[in-house]
Amino acid sequence: MATENKMSLTVKVLLGMGLGIGVGLGINLFELNTAGSFVNVCIVDGLFHVVGKMFVNALKMLVVPLVIFSLICGVCGIGDIRALGRVGGKSFALYMLTTAIAIATAIIIAASSGIGKGMDIPNEANFVGKESPPLSQVLIDIIPSNPINAMANGDMLPVIFFSILLGISMLLVGSKAKSFVEGAEIANEIMMKMVNVVMSVAPYAVFALIAKALASLGLGLLASLAGYVLVLVSALLFHLFVTLMVLLKVASGLSPAMFLKKIRNVQVFAFSTASSNATIPVTMRTVTKRFGADNSIASFTVPFGATINMDGTAIMQGVATVFIANIYNVDLGIAGYLTVILMSVLASIGTAGVPGVGLIMLSMVFAQVGLPIEGIGLILGVDRLMDMIRTAVNVSGDAVVSSIVANSENKLDESVYKDPNAGAVESGNIHIDEAAEAELSHALEEVKARD
Ligand code: ASP
Repeated sequence: MATENKMSLTVKVLLGMGLGIGVGLGINLFELNTAGSFVNVCIVDGLFHVVGKMFVNALKMLVVPLVIFSLICGVCGIGDIRALGRVGGKSFALYMLTTAIAIATAIIIAASSGIGKGMDIPNEANFVGKESPPLSQVLIDIIPSNPINAMANGDMLPVIFFSILLGISMLLVGSKAKSFVEGAEIANEIMMKMVNVVMSVAPYAVFALIAKALASLGLGLLASLAGYVLVLVSALLFHLFVTLMVLLKVASGLSPAMFLKKIRNVQVFAFSTASSNATIPVTMRTVTKRFGADNSIASFTVPFGATINMDGTAIMQGVATVFIANIYNVDLGIAGYLTVILMSVLASIGTAGVPGVGLIMLSMVFAQVGLPIEGIGLILGVDRLMDMIRTAVNVSGDAVVSSIVANSENKLDESVYKDPNAGAVESGNIHIDEAAEAELSHALEEVKARD
């Protein structure tokens, strides 16, 4: 067997990411990506764009069916409706707490660094804010008037609600619903296999996504916003490596080193897609197969977290608020900053984990505290790169809370968590087991004979 096949998928994905960074930056630095050039038309906006988008579509394609089937299995697996309420309560509290800590830390770090002080207001400050839904609407929309519509739109909260209710109703029906539950279990297993199939092409897709993003990046802007970028990235790293890891250790006793080792794949997927939602299949696979959390917990906490938990995004909002307030010489005061914390936490509940949504949340926060919304235009140029980094922090937060909740419910298999190889996808090649194939065709023949 070739050595290539023995390389773990994580190594291949990291290689794809490294190559993507190199090629993307190379194209950018040598200014090969000028509008209309061969590199621009055929490579960056051609090959990289098509391969990257196809992959993101493939990930999104998995989300809704995976969440539905795994939640049905999860609810039926938990069996007890009270346990379900407990898991919901714990994860909601932890998601809100981590988001609040994230933004408070960001404000403290940014305020003590004094970023933006003495900077002139540049002309390019022009950003037109978009409306974020009010909380009352968010609450109403949790219940889908048409579940098929919610599924078609990929609206996570109503899909989660419908699937949980479906699972509970199956439990209430009892033995008559047995074949439906078995069907959902089989469908869940098939969807998990489909995640493996899609993940097997990840190294190439990650390369294309990252190369395209970096080739189109304004590197000059990075230099002019160096203060903002530096403070933001430091706050994000602090949250990931200190706050979340201390929380994981204190609340569950699980090893942060093992967590950081196994979460890398999820972080790279989040980084390259800039979408917590599109990363749900990979987060779910990692939390269950690599960390050993039971599906009954992860099926709920992972999609729930991808929607309502955005620690990295909250950090961006904290740093951006301080930065822009300083540029415009606005003193928000303690009350202003407390409002920022509250607004960011609330805004994270109603907005889905998709690229760029953080800016919409930010305009909502600015409107509330009276900061000029057009000021957001100042950070627009570097936001794509910052979005990639903060999404990696967002999904890490989802995985930390899922592990803590699973552990607190005695639904985390520590032997799996401690095993560095547990659940690792060994090779990029999808190998169809001959025995499994023979078994399936035999079963099909039996069905035909019966008919
Ligand atoms: N892209 C982020 C996510 O999907 C949200 C954001 O910060 O814009 O989690």
